[in-house]
Amino acid sequence: MTTRRILIATSNPGKLRDFAGAARAYGIEIACLPNFSSLPAVVEDSLTFEANACKKAEHYSRYVPGEIVLADDSGLQVDALGGGPGVHSARYAADAPHLVENNTDDQANNARLIRELRGIPPEKRTGRFICVIVAARDGQTLAEFRGAVEGIILDAPRGSNGFGYDPLFYFPPIQKAFAELTPEEKAQFSHRGAAFRKFLEWYEA
Ligand code: IMP
Repeated sequence: MTTRRILIATSNPGKLRDFAGAARAYGIEIACLPNFSSLPAVVEDSLTFEANACKKAEHYSRYVPGEIVLADDSGLQVDALGGGPGVHSARYAADAPHLVENNTDDQANNARLIRELRGIPPEKRTGRFICVIVAARDGQTLAEFRGAVEGIILDAPRGSNGFGYDPLFYFPPIQKAFAELTPEEKAQFSHRGAAFRKFLEWYEA
């Protein structure tokens, strides 16, 4: 059997591990776009996950003519923060996350989230991860896939796996934080796993 390979336009090793965890069971190999770090970057300044994911997928697919390229735009929506940090999740520790282009580091983002939610009781610490995956070829969007997962935002980190807000995202059905899961376990429950399975249904149809 030949191994199928899917190209992902990301420099985020956490996202790549998540995709590999989701794809392994299907005998699919996940690969980063060749020379990704030397390609011109996209400014992720759109107001929706869908628009940012389209922008990335269309842009990067131009560098690998004829191939399907996936881009993921994702983030954490916290109800007590009016849905924030949302599309600004990767830059939440910045003073003005909507104005900066560079990502801030995960630890600083988590520290801000803990600070912003200080004193909020558990029943009001609800939120969700959202992931939108866009498949594009030759600069054109082919399809979009959305996944979401509901959880509770912890007041202190738990676990050392995963990336981003995983140590603060508690998933009640299994009584664990996402950072306590292996990539395969995370893929079973996560927003990214759900969006990736929708992509696979489309891809294999
Ligand atoms: P972007 O999609 O590259 O704009 O960034 C997504 C940001 O959302 C990441 O940098 C994380 O802060 C957060 N995020 C998205 N998905 C996850 C996840 O699965 N676990 C933890 N944090 C996530």
